[in-house]
Parts: sequence; structure tokens; C-alpha cells
Amino acid sequence: MRILLAEDEHVLADQIKSVLKSEGRVVDIAGDGVEAQFLGETEPYDLIILDIGLPQRDGLTVLKSWRANGIETPVLILTARDGWSDRVDGLDAGGDDYLTKPFHMPELSARIRAMIRRQSGRANPVFCKDNVSFDSRNNQVMVGGMPASLTSQEIAVLSYLFHNSGRLVSRTELSEHIYQYDGDRDSNTIAVFVNRLRKKLGNDLIETVRGRGYVIKAAA
Ligand code: CA
Repeated sequence: MRILLAEDEHVLADQIKSVLKSEGRVVDIAGDGVEAQFLGETEPYDLIILDIGLPQRDGLTVLKSWRANGIETPVLILTARDGWSDRVDGLDAGGDDYLTKPFHMPELSARIRAMIRRQSGRANPVFCKDNVSFDSRNNQVMVGGMPASLTSQEIAVLSYLFHNSGRLVSRTELSEHIYQYDGDRDSNTIAVFVNRLRKKLGNDLIETVRGRGYVIKAAA
């Protein structure tokens, strides 16, 4: 899952990025409103964290512009403690949730998980298909009741396919959601990750649609 973090406080931005990275997310940081607006319009994010108080263009203006241009990515707004009117305006402008600064990182992580889950139309954080389960709260993968050991990139691929289960996902789409902006994107490596996942989790979980991509069918 790939996240845009629009936050001009460098220390806070780096802190959030490292926490999200440790949870298997890929994070692009935008330090001002103009860059945030551009990235949000041109890159396919799964979620956007948007500070309302951004230099050059404020967060509310950026959010309104995204929504006016049909960008439907879920947006979590960050506001100052006394910014209750920013929260009202932000939610009314198309924000999906908010968090007041300062906040605890586990709360940010939990809100992000809930928003990503809702986006894929789910309430249950645990995905199951045949004898494989994936717990999106802690990235724990079990096969036949035994924990499986996966690399962070394998988890990123598996998580994206589970969150989009029932839908065909192309290699290009997968690579756009597991690598960051300017990252070393190579859709050929996706096939390598899928092969490793099959070795660890069995051949039936991820189906290949020749020349088009991959699908996990009907996860529970
Ligand atoms: Ca700020």
C-alpha cells in the first residue's frame, strides 16, 4: 500500500514515514501544498495523509482541488489541537477522517488500516483464502495454522492482492503500489515476488491471468 504524506514539519514527517515503513507501507513525502497537489493528482496512492497547515498552498485548498478533479483517494486530515473548524471544513471538503496533533503513532496506524479496509469494502481485518490467512493489523501470515516468514516486499504484494481480492491486478498496478516515487520500479520483479509467495503459501492462492496480471479470488 502506497501512501502520500503531505507534511511540512520534517521531524514529524520522517517519524511517520519510518513507522509506516515498518508496517510495510511505501511512503512519499510532500513538503508543501503545491507538491502535494501534484503528486496526489498524478500518482496512484492508496491513501493520503494531509496536514491542513501547509506552505505555498494550504491543505484545504489542495483537498478541494483533488475532489473537484475526481481524485477519490481516501484522505486523513492532520490538524492543530484548536483547529476544530479546520476539521469541519476538511471533512466537508471530502476528507474521510482526521487526527489532531499531537497524536500517538499507533492511533495513526490504526486509522490508516481502517480507512484502507473500508476502501476495499471490508470490516474484518483478517483475510482468509483456503488455508492461508493474512492479518492486516500486524502483517502476520499463516498457512495451515503455522506462521509463514515473508519479506516486506512479499507482504506488500500479498496485502495489495488481498485488499483487492476478486479483481484482476496487473503487474504495472502492483509495482505502482509497492514502490515509492522515483523508486527503482521494475514490474518484472513482481513475477519473482509472486513465485516466492507461491513457494511459501501454495500454488493455488494467487492465480495468473496470462498476459494480464494476478488475482486472489473470493477471499473471506
Ligand atoms: Ca504544518
